Amino acid sequence: MRLRNKPWAKDFIQKHPEILIPNPEEFKGKWNEVFGNDHPLHIEVGSGKGQFIVGMALANPEINYIGIELYDKVIVKALQKALEAGSPPNLRLLKVNAEELENFFQKNEVDRIYLNFSDPWPKKRHAKRRLTHERFLRIYESILVDGGEIHFKTDNRGLFEYSLVSMSQYGMVLNEVSLDLHANEPEDNIRTEYEEKFSALGQPIYRLEAQFAK
Ligand code: SAM
Repeated sequence: MRLRNKPWAKDFIQKHPEILIPNPEEFKGKWNEVFGNDHPLHIEVGSGKGQFIVGMALANPEINYIGIELYDKVIVKALQKALEAGSPPNLRLLKVNAEELENFFQKNEVDRIYLNFSDPWPKKRHAKRRLTHERFLRIYESILVDGGEIHFKTDNRGLFEYSLVSMSQYGMVLNEVSLDLHANEPEDNIRTEYEEKFSALGQPIYRLEAQFAK
């Protein structure tokens, strides 16, 4: 993703701690208190400009959502979308690195993880950076409920093939695999920014649902 400098992003972010939580480590094990209910918690890792997570929060008010993104310049767009959508009460954003998820969530706290159009890191020597590498699967498993699921969409065939192998070698069960999601797009599919872009170029969208052992 090409990033332009946005000096105003930091200030804007600081003005909205009610949505973009500045001190997420304080809420490890207590996200139900933040949301004020015991609804399931779904997180998106690498939520980019937020179209998916904001859309999901609006469509499913009985589920709590947290969008996780590494960069100020990107997450500020998700924050703007959340504000424009009327600050859905079931949505929060965290500007953190997926490598540190265990600092913010405890075991059994997260019910589902979404990965959408994760950076493919095509070079073999960068495989460890892929968000479906074994080292990330281990982190996801350590915060998910037993039998928790990962839902993954991508336009990148290489990353999809790699992820199928990585997940099955890890011992996960594949419950759904689609090699062309938009050929028969489910009514409740919320498209991400990247999904719209690649679909408009005529590229197939790959999707899977995988589950950790119970
Ligand atoms: N999910 C969005 C979509 O489908 O439109 C954005 C896709 S973009 C290719 C991948 C995003 O993941 C980028 O915004 C990037 O900053 C974020 N990202 C990559 N590695 C991450 C990490 N370790 N922790 C949090 N976010 C990460």
